[in-house]
Amino acid sequence: MTTTAADDQLTILDRCDACGAQAYVRVVLPYGELLFCGHHANAHLEKLAAAAICVHDERSRIASDGQAQGAGEA
Ligand SMILES: [Zn+2]
Repeated sequence: MTTTAADDQLTILDRCDACGAQAYVRVVLPYGELLFCGHHANAHLEKLAAAAICVHDERSRIASDGQAQGAGEA
């Protein structure tokens, strides 16, 4: 068994393939992998999930990373 990169935590160096923002979601597909920020994960994940081998989702970290868009949970 080899450890795949799919489980590695995303870092600030990982960038959304769509907009270049920090990536929080990695989608591993048969032909490669895609990184998405929270916004683009929300936009594309539903379509990609069917084809994905693995989805590594760290969107739960977005709120705790400071710079949360939409701070102010009741
Ligand atoms: Zn993006």
